[in-house]
Amino acid sequence: MKQAVRVAEAQTLVLDCVEPGAIEKVALVDALHRVIAEDVIAPRDIPPHDNSAMDGYAVQHRDVKGATQDKPAGLRVLQVLPAGLMPEHVVEPGTAIKIMTGAPMPQGADTVVQVEHTNASDTDVDIYRAPKVGSNLRQRGEDIHAGEGIMVQQTRLRPAELGVLASVGKSQVMVYQRPRVAILATGDEIADLDDPEPHGKIINSNSYTIAGQVLEAGGVPVLLGVARDTREAISQRIASGLQAEVLITSGGVSAGDFDYVRDCLDAAGFVTQFFTVAMRPGSPVTFGTVGQVPVFSLPGNPVASMVTFELFVRPALLKMQGYTELFRKPSQAALENAVSKRQGVRTFLRGVLQLPKRLGEMPTVTTTGPQGSGILRSMSLANCLIDIPEEVERLQSGDTVQILPL
Ligand code: AMP
Ligand code: MG
Repeated sequence: MKQAVRVAEAQTLVLDCVEPGAIEKVALVDALHRVIAEDVIAPRDIPPHDNSAMDGYAVQHRDVKGATQDKPAGLRVLQVLPAGLMPEHVVEPGTAIKIMTGAPMPQGADTVVQVEHTNASDTDVDIYRAPKVGSNLRQRGEDIHAGEGIMVQQTRLRPAELGVLASVGKSQVMVYQRPRVAILATGDEIADLDDPEPHGKIINSNSYTIAGQVLEAGGVPVLLGVARDTREAISQRIASGLQAEVLITSGGVSAGDFDYVRDCLDAAGFVTQFFTVAMRPGSPVTFGTVGQVPVFSLPGNPVASMVTFELFVRPALLKMQGYTELFRKPSQAALENAVSKRQGVRTFLRGVLQLPKRLGEMPTVTTTGPQGSGILRSMSLANCLIDIPEEVERLQSGDTVQILPL
């Protein structure tokens, strides 16, 4: 007797079984899209000193106040200061230092006049226009103050965060490890890519969609090939798959005579969390653990495999890598075509979401044609899943539906 759990309940059961995993130190560029596992305090001010935001002249504002094209302010130039050097002079009344963008502000100066508003000879400069006092300089610490917390644990590192970490000199960073995810396909009718005699067989596509999904979710796929539908073959591959941090099997979990995956998992010490979900496609999806290793047995039908990965495996992989946002952000759209479904089963149709034609209108979504769980093209054409609740049986064109972006 099957006890189907609801999708939301199954998701909770999965997430209760996984924890953020081990952490490791990696080079900064390798930390992109990883989650940082340490708090970072700025060891120094950024920028480290007041510096010029323009190429121009560092001056005392009272010397140039009121300067015009007709009545320029003439100043003696003490030094030309490139961005990499320190000033050798103090700017006194009647003097200026020619300064490049990024060079430290000399003492005495309070303003930078941009070079476009000046005319210089070898030793002197005429200032034609005075900016406001304090213009064109960047203050020490205006970006980051020494001692300031600049990043907290669990932050996902995007290019901007890599830059912030680099600016405080962090060349290595502690991040959560990427879990290795073993992927085992099963089925006597399945030939792997490059098998010598694929005639009359179905070519293994699930291993590759799953590997792609694992990579997108930050994991490291470990392909275990295709096991024949025998207890020995499946058990042997499961044993090697359990060396990884996560094991995913594909196919062989339905009620067929040769669906041995569940038996083999049981023999390996599987603790079942659920083995049927009230959903379509993908109801035979099974989840549990062997020791510490979460094991997902996804149905063989290609669409069911992808949808169940999306709903159950992806959030688990993200949680293991320290992510705090585990689910896609749902949004709403107006359904373009009527659909009907079985009551009591949460249904995920493949949809094409389109931006609204007029401002202020809701986006629209259309199903991608035939929705059979073996029709992988329906996934390839789709840019979202249309998520229809258990209770609903029929939807009309124009009804509002929830969509999950892919
Ligand atoms: P199963 O869940 O083992 O009963 O498989 C259901 C159907 O999914 C099979 O009849 C195949 O058509 C398809 N299938 C199973 N495994 C794969 C795979 N690795 N790649 C592509 N299709 C598969
Ligand atoms: Mg099978």
